Amino acid sequence: MNEQFQQALSIIETLKRHGHEAYFVGGAVRDYLLQRPLGDIDIATSAHPQEVMSIFPKTVPVGIAHGTVMVIERGVSYEVTTFRKEGRYEDYRRPKEVTFVSSLYEDLQRRDFTMNAIAMNEHGDIIDPFGGTEALKQRMIETVGDAAERFNEDALRMMRALRFVSQLGFSLSTKTKQAIIQYGHLLQHIAVERIAVEFEKLLLGPFMSKAIDLLIETNLFCYLPELATKKRELAQLATYSIVPTHRTEAWARFAFVVHFHQKELKKWKLPNHFIRDVLICLKALEHIRSLSDWTVDTLYEYGPYIPHIERIRAACKHDEPHVHLLLKRWEALPIRNRKELAINGNDLLTLFERKAGPWLATMIENIERAVLHRKVENEKEKLKEWAVCNQRRENNC
Ligand code: ATP
Ligand code: MG
Repeated sequence: MNEQFQQALSIIETLKRHGHEAYFVGGAVRDYLLQRPLGDIDIATSAHPQEVMSIFPKTVPVGIAHGTVMVIERGVSYEVTTFRKEGRYEDYRRPKEVTFVSSLYEDLQRRDFTMNAIAMNEHGDIIDPFGGTEALKQRMIETVGDAAERFNEDALRMMRALRFVSQLGFSLSTKTKQAIIQYGHLLQHIAVERIAVEFEKLLLGPFMSKAIDLLIETNLFCYLPELATKKRELAQLATYSIVPTHRTEAWARFAFVVHFHQKELKKWKLPNHFIRDVLICLKALEHIRSLSDWTVDTLYEYGPYIPHIERIRAACKHDEPHVHLLLKRWEALPIRNRKELAINGNDLLTLFERKAGPWLATMIENIERAVLHRKVENEKEKLKEWAVCNQRRENNC
């Protein structure tokens, strides 16, 4: 068992001391067996949420209705979820209420894929009733039980299957793939926000190309917001090999390639501030494309976004990104933003003894450009002098 599990061991031991069963489950066990870095550690237990809350001193009831309590131990939080099976599924979505059950087996049975339905006890023994370890060996994504039935219960699982393809590079079992082809349309019943979470993970995965190819092959892309007519563009996205390092970069690259603008991004119900960041990247990419390279002005305008934009530019041109070099060029600019100007609006109002007006914004912009292009040093007295000369020049015109 690795260090992260060792640290979480005390939770399992405490639950057991109180007479309950408890196991590590889900993604962490899968990733541990694959020797990948672990995400959050999840624990499944026979203890009911109220019992979990009474046993541990620091808990947060994050999803009591679904049986989940967050337990905080030495600053690390763990999701402790009561063994459960899901109630009746309505409209192909996750059920609203769940039923607590007493056996680990039933809890594992309700999970999506065999590789995600493996448990591990406090000694590191693996409990794997559905052949998850074999699936890991075969690098195969396979539903627990009948694929058609499982996707009919919760259609989001089809998106999850493809995001795991992107993260792990695994293949879909024949039955799983067939069921996606047959039931892809059920994705229409799923909240866009939930689809976006899985799609974002797909965009960020090292095997994104494989997942996009499958998205096309299974026709699942037809049921993603604003993508039904974008088959050709998506296929283009699958040819890019640079793995995005940030969600803004991932979405901006996607949006750039499939020609998404604000309207389409809104359909994905992404938060407004996030859409704003993506749109800045898109504007920069258009700008750079028209200039064919970075300039002093584009470096200045898009400074904090340089790493995202440069990696997208390089991916789309099948080129090497020069992030480090560009950041150096950006840092070497006389100023990185307007706040770094050695003169401000008040200084200019005093200097020209004039009331504020549109002239002031123009003046500041002129000074900013002059400093950026090294026509004048960023020093207050020199800027004042330059401003007066500039004003005279303009008046003479
Ligand atoms: P990650 O490492 O990306 O978090 P994960 O496998 O832990 O991957 P989660 O979304 O955190 O994925 O879900 C935790 C576990 O809950 C899964 O491993 C799976 O067993 C189960 N699970 C999650 N979503 C579903 C679903 N829609 N249907 C069935 N089981 C699910
Ligand atoms: Mg997880």
